[in-house]
Amino acid sequence: MKIIGEKVIIRPTEDKDLENIQGLWNNGDVMESVGYPDGLGQTYAQMGIWFKNLKKTDLANHYVVLDKDNNFCGELLYRKDPEDKRAGLDIKFLPEAQGRGLATEALQLFIEYIFNIIEDVEAVWAEPAEQNTAARDLYTRAGLQEKERPADLINEDPYWELTKADWQEIDYSSKLVRFRSNILMKTIDYKDVYTEGGRKVLEVGILPGKYCNFDCVFCPFSRTDNKVDQQQSFEGLDSAIEEFGELLEENKLDLVYLSSTGESILNQAAGPIIDMIKAKGISVRLLSNGYLLGVDKYLKIASKCDEVIGEIAAVTEADFQKLQRPMTGYNLEEYIFNMVKFNQQYDGVFILDIAMLKGYNDDEVSIQRLKGLIEKIAPDRIVVNNVSDPELKKQFGVSTERLNQIREVLANI
Ligand code: SF4
Repeated sequence: MKIIGEKVIIRPTEDKDLENIQGLWNNGDVMESVGYPDGLGQTYAQMGIWFKNLKKTDLANHYVVLDKDNNFCGELLYRKDPEDKRAGLDIKFLPEAQGRGLATEALQLFIEYIFNIIEDVEAVWAEPAEQNTAARDLYTRAGLQEKERPADLINEDPYWELTKADWQEIDYSSKLVRFRSNILMKTIDYKDVYTEGGRKVLEVGILPGKYCNFDCVFCPFSRTDNKVDQQQSFEGLDSAIEEFGELLEENKLDLVYLSSTGESILNQAAGPIIDMIKAKGISVRLLSNGYLLGVDKYLKIASKCDEVIGEIAAVTEADFQKLQRPMTGYNLEEYIFNMVKFNQQYDGVFILDIAMLKGYNDDEVSIQRLKGLIEKIAPDRIVVNNVSDPELKKQFGVSTERLNQIREVLANI
């Protein structure tokens, strides 16, 4: 789940966010209003324990807030109390992210998300201290008001609440309308619109979670319970596609980039979605790990696209099994064969994305193997990259100098 507003992006907290959250909690300016003028003094190890415990419960849900340049701004939390159908809210923002309307938008989007998506929540509440006028103003802008504290909440803190019924009467602002429909369409996850070589590109995920035929150790998404290579159908997809079509009409796009948390063509509606985008005169780029591209059904779907990105990482069978953890029966030879087969009949632009992995494919022997594979697949273009996730980069990242050397060697095939 990712909530995208005009100014902020809200997404569930991951291990890689702990350092930023530690900085937030240890910031005296942030924590003064809740009684810690010197910050909490949390160590990184304590953060790890906190996060591990948090993950054990479904009731407390923690999110990070980023600005549109992906800079960390703060945190949001809701703690659900199913018995009383309430969710307690908390929001903290870095001083440098305050005063720009980011916290207001984040809190309003978050409340919309909770009331639209989370079951059994009829009210949200918070405890802004009397002296914390900034927090009180923020909660007021989101519609919360001070009320009598329910008897089951035993301390004496102020109690501010917004019921779902009252929230339905609030029109936060027109800019949130698109968001409201987006979150109802969880299967289609809009990422950012950006310009690439003069083309206006919308990146979109079309899977509601990680559905992939691999489970790579260097995957930026968490491990999957859905290791599959058959197409899946998802609830609510018809209305999601309809709204996606409306969004395409409203925005003058040149390219839609299908890049999901897994293998996009595993969505049963992948073909119709691509057809719909193309019928609007918009080009489609598909990101695939490449294994299924040689399977007739998937070959036909991918061939509808104007650009297809296939991937390579491991260059030996042992590393393929160890690092990419594919479905049973898969092997590296068939993987390469499938991409060769696809590209032999494909009219569009085939791009091969090579993930460099320190200690696995960055030595001279591996580079020669990669050259051989590239020659076989014969892509129109290659892209040579480090893994992007900062945590994974610590383990697998190749130095910039080595990466540039490899790029030069592979570019001259
Ligand atoms: S193929 Fe891509 S999405 Fe699938 S597990 Fe590997 S890195 Fe993750």
